[in-house]
Amino acid sequence: MSTLKIANLSKTYANGVKALDNVNLELENGMFGLLGPNGAGKSSLMRTLATLQEADSGTATIDGIDIFKQPAELRKVLGYLPQEFGVYPRITAEQLLTHIAVLKGITNTKERKELVKYLLDKVNLYDKRNKSVKGFSGGMKQRVGIAQALIGNPKLIIVDEPTAGLDPSERNRFYNLLADVGKEVIVILSTHIVDDVRELCTKMAIMNLGEIVYHGAPQNAIKELDGKVYQRMVKHGELHQYANDYKIISNKMVGGQPLIHIYSDEHPKNGFEEVTPNLEDVFFSKINTSNVLV
Ligand code: ADP
Repeated sequence: MSTLKIANLSKTYANGVKALDNVNLELENGMFGLLGPNGAGKSSLMRTLATLQEADSGTATIDGIDIFKQPAELRKVLGYLPQEFGVYPRITAEQLLTHIAVLKGITNTKERKELVKYLLDKVNLYDKRNKSVKGFSGGMKQRVGIAQALIGNPKLIIVDEPTAGLDPSERNRFYNLLADVGKEVIVILSTHIVDDVRELCTKMAIMNLGEIVYHGAPQNAIKELDGKVYQRMVKHGELHQYANDYKIISNKMVGGQPLIHIYSDEHPKNGFEEVTPNLEDVFFSKINTSNVLV
């Protein structure tokens, strides 16, 4: 069992944006969802943990390795799938994985061949091993990305927005692969897609404006909202008024008409009905989007 401890991590960019605001998290093996809207600071946190950029202050350790003081040690136990997994032109899946295995120091040819075959099997691309990665679908590229992240038996795998741009069946296949991988190592799944976390993660954090605004189990967060979420359809022109009168947590179009969810300690009457809260309600209530409406 590995433990990743992040303490008091802060980062302000040169333009004054505070991307990390005193972030504290403790993670163990399994799939951990880091959920936040665009601009929340997720990539900044992932890139800092991957030692691609520096924080202004704070510490991070994994099993006794000080990530910022011993970046070379960290990289030995890290698998990283960045937001944009760029690939070299005209390289096959097998060549790419072999190349990365060499870069990661697996010099024994027989061992490397076996590993690459094992990984291609694991991500279900063995039949496509001789095809150019450039021609792969988004989902297939992401699976190559996971395969390369697994080289070197990492203790920590970071995947940054992995499902954006995947179609539903590709996404499902990718979920299954991640769930399989996540049993033995710490996987941080950074995403703005609530479904990703609901489907895969037993622990999560919600991030907004550089801060961790929730840390715990998705189910507990949902339970906290029990009996406090109400919905109704409204007319377009009424949205402003509802935003003034109620704490709107989400607004989505259903059949061309806005359906709003609000947070309220008591039944608001006025045509609202109580709904069973879901993770989306948790997400929107924690990041407080009502100002987006007006
Ligand atoms: P997320 O991954 O959640 O979308 P980011 O970490 O990419 O969030 O960005 C957090 C905030 O920091 C945003 O306001 C973004 O514009 C800003 N930001 C990110 N990278 C830089 C940078 N290199 N220089 C200045 N500002 C940045």
